[in-house]
Amino acid sequence: MTVYNVTERLAKEMIASPEVQGVVQCSCAQCLDDILAIALNHLPARYVSTDQGGTYVKADYMHPQWQSDVLAELIRAAEVVGRQPHHGLLTGERV
Ligand SMILES: [Zn+2]
Repeated sequence: MTVYNVTERLAKEMIASPEVQGVVQCSCAQCLDDILAIALNHLPARYVSTDQGGTYVKADYMHPQWQSDVLAELIRAAEVVGRQPHHGLLTGERV
């Protein structure tokens, strides 16, 4: 069984948008993963099988309300992570 989450795919692409990057305090892998995880926890998962995926993803990309929901959650998550970053907790290293 091969399924994937359209929400996750969309969020991963939209995290690079200027709107999100404008509020991202740190773009290390840990912070970006945290932002994605927080945003995805607040968004409904939408699973599709891979043979349907292309069609569903295209439809979602063109849906303005869906895009703005994902964008809003990414921005909110970026603000949360920016206030309390988890990076470097184990190593003390700041990227
Ligand atoms: Zn970071």
